[in-house]
Amino acid sequence: MEEYDVVIVGGGCAGTTAAFFLKEYRPDMNVLLIDRLNGKNFDFYHRMCGEAVSENAFREIRPLKAEHVVHNVNYVEERWPGGVVMGIRHRGYIVDRPQLLRSIQSRYQARGGIVERDALLSASVEKEKYLLHCSSGRSIKSRFLIGADGFNSRVRRDIFGSEPQRVIWTEQYLVDRQIPGNKIIFTQGAQYEGGYRWEFPAGKYTRIGFPRGTDTVNEEIIEKHRRAIPTGGLDCIAKGRCYLTGDAAAMPNPLTFGGIRTALLSGRKAAEAILWDDPDMYERWWHSSMFCHPSFLRAFDHFARLDDAGYKESSRVFRSGSLLLPFLKAMFCYPQYRDLYMAYVRSAIVGW
Ligand SMILES: Cc1cc2nc3c(=O)[nH]c(=O)nc-3n(C[C@H](O)[C@H](O)[C@H](O)COP(=O)(O)OP(=O)(O)OC[C@H]3O[C@@H](n4cnc5c(N)ncnc54)[C@H](O)[C@@H]3O)c2cc1C
Repeated sequence: MEEYDVVIVGGGCAGTTAAFFLKEYRPDMNVLLIDRLNGKNFDFYHRMCGEAVSENAFREIRPLKAEHVVHNVNYVEERWPGGVVMGIRHRGYIVDRPQLLRSIQSRYQARGGIVERDALLSASVEKEKYLLHCSSGRSIKSRFLIGADGFNSRVRRDIFGSEPQRVIWTEQYLVDRQIPGNKIIFTQGAQYEGGYRWEFPAGKYTRIGFPRGTDTVNEEIIEKHRRAIPTGGLDCIAKGRCYLTGDAAAMPNPLTFGGIRTALLSGRKAAEAILWDDPDMYERWWHSSMFCHPSFLRAFDHFARLDDAGYKESSRVFRSGSLLLPFLKAMFCYPQYRDLYMAYVRSAIVGW
């Protein structure tokens, strides 16, 4: 039977970063990265995303840097019911995610890391090793296991037996319309059931997305995507020598739906914890980080209960477009929405 030091299941942002850092720190480690998709299917799956990543995300995974940048973003526009429009300066990128992943994987492979197309069918623990059965028919043993296999994680189900607190099904369209490349647009409202509609530049096209069934698009559709965003975190993300990362660990932020940054960073943190053989270190990092603050999920649930009148009332003080003074006024005048304001401030500090 094949045996590895580490097997990583899933070659998305989380798995690819974990693979890169393992080989970066310990080139002698025997690391296998498997993904059920390759070629065009892999590209399609990973284009199923707004591909918006903040500058901060890349700071946290140096020496990796923003590559395959399609647009430089410096502005986030928030549209609220009642005609309130807020603008926030924030730097980030729209990246060509499949190319970015390929580029990081090739650096990992250059150090001897292995990438193979295979799907994990089941995982179990046997005498302190992980036993993996794959769709190719082979069985693999490994000392460490990283579950980076996305929202429907097989590793999470088999080893942790847990499910995300919330799963938000979304649909996204690549449409034939061009918008300015420097800004991303969010439209809020009760119809989005706690979520929102996003419009992100995508070269000469635009990506428009929203929770499934809450809106439609009028433009000519080039590509259609449907996928779930798991959120709210998990109580346990490291068990024995097995680590859950990114969407497998339900890390996307419930307010922003941003999950690339936590996927990239958790991949790095899991690799570091493996090098120190210290699962608690990984668990502590996540549970003490701002990314998993419970106020985000509470705010999502509160938004989901609001009607349009509530959206209008809670955002009315921001009509002027400025943020600081209206925020102080809002905290005082609308105590019933304080949890939303605080979660918004936290999410602005944490970023995307
Ligand atoms: C429509 C949409 C738009 C989004 N837009 C943004 C955005 O603009 N910015 C942002 O920050 N976040 C965004 N997100 C969230 C972001 O896409 C995810 O949080 C991020 O992709 C998580 O990365 P990951 O590596 O954990 O998982 P994934 O990207 O889901 O990668 C998982 C990988 O595992 C593989 N896999 C799955 N099961 C198996 C198996 N059994 N065996 C082997 N391989 C397997 C898959 O093929 C895949 O390659 C969006 C999400 C959606 C749905």
